[in-house]
Amino acid sequence: MILLKESIQILQACEDVQDAGLIFGTWGNLSVLLEDGTILITPSGIPYDELREEDLVICDMNGNVVGGKQEPSSELKMHVEIYKARKDVKAIVHTHSLYASVASASLNEVPLLVEDVAMVLGGSIEVTSYQNPGTQELAMEVVKHLGKKNAVIMANHGQVGVGSTLDDAILASVMCEKASQLYIKALEITDSPKVLKDEDVRKLSETYVNHYRRLRDFKE
Ligand SMILES: [Zn+2]
Repeated sequence: MILLKESIQILQACEDVQDAGLIFGTWGNLSVLLEDGTILITPSGIPYDELREEDLVICDMNGNVVGGKQEPSSELKMHVEIYKARKDVKAIVHTHSLYASVASASLNEVPLLVEDVAMVLGGSIEVTSYQNPGTQELAMEVVKHLGKKNAVIMANHGQVGVGSTLDDAILASVMCEKASQLYIKALEITDSPKVLKDEDVRKLSETYVNHYRRLRDFKE
């Protein structure tokens, strides 16, 4: 397989999500959309710290392997369907992080309590109905509940963060975990945490996209 700059980025991202405390065992997977419309994705079942560039897999939008020697992540269908539904998404991070997993088994939605998560996620985090892992049904549930936002929680399973870059997708996953932790902790103190209003979340998200992210992109 020809090695790509995106391969280096994915290996670095695997380190970053581990450093952020989002990974338990070998569970979780990352992908990026390549310029030719194929998907570079982590393989199934190889621990992140043993992962080498040649272990990464390239798949087409029909889920066929077109490069690499390993099996692609078992959640490939979910990655394919998100890229089909969201033309703005170029990277996806799926993890089984702790508080998002608690939310996945106890809540239908994680309302947003603070401004930074609102800026990055763009709306409250919805929890899908339960579907078996690796199925088309799970993929479609994830797409439905992700909507135009940047994170979603899969019932009794884990979470997904998306973005226009791997860094943005990792940030969405980190903020999904933070939002879940904040809401669960707030419920220990009060039955009615002060949830940000939808309109304020929308304004915060617009400010982030139109101002901070442009500044960052300009600097890069
Ligand atoms: Zn999973």
